[in-house]
Amino acid sequence: MTFFCTQCGECCTTLGLVHVIVQQNKDNEFVLQNEYTGHQSIVTVDPDKHEFFLDQSIFEIHPDSCPFFRFRENDKKGYCTCHLTRPPICRDYNCWRILIQNSTGSRVGRVMGWRHLCAEDEHVKTIWSKHAQELSSLPDEEWDRSVVRLFQSYGYRIVV
Ligand code: SF4
Ligand code: SF4
Repeated sequence: MTFFCTQCGECCTTLGLVHVIVQQNKDNEFVLQNEYTGHQSIVTVDPDKHEFFLDQSIFEIHPDSCPFFRFRENDKKGYCTCHLTRPPICRDYNCWRILIQNSTGSRVGRVMGWRHLCAEDEHVKTIWSKHAQELSSLPDEEWDRSVVRLFQSYGYRIVV
């Protein structure tokens, strides 16, 4: 399955509780510690994001954001300001296995790794609550295919 990040920023807005800057080496180089594992990474603010990194306004709205997360209002996307050197856990992170979009391509739901639905859309939630149980005994690949077919049958676009 191919995962691509839509840069909604939901994950990084809570990761300030996990990723903590414990040392500054140079102007734009920091030691970032994972508070759960103790793992430390040296990260550098991306060359094109120095000014963006200095903007601290994100913490007024999302105080638990990762120290390197920023949100741009003009394109409504989240950005990692140390993207090029971000910690391994961030490189490996995939937040969904099936992405559900409406007919205009906007996200209406995500099926997460552990067969859990994240959705704000009431219709998507209703479909899930009606059918999830009957699919639950299927093995993984068949389950994925069935979930895809299920939402497609209701007219949703699916990205996997
Ligand atoms: S990994 Fe997922 S939650 Fe995080 S920004 Fe990308 S799409 Fe959003
Ligand atoms: S280092 Fe970057 S990708 Fe990782 S949590 Fe922080 S902002 Fe998100």
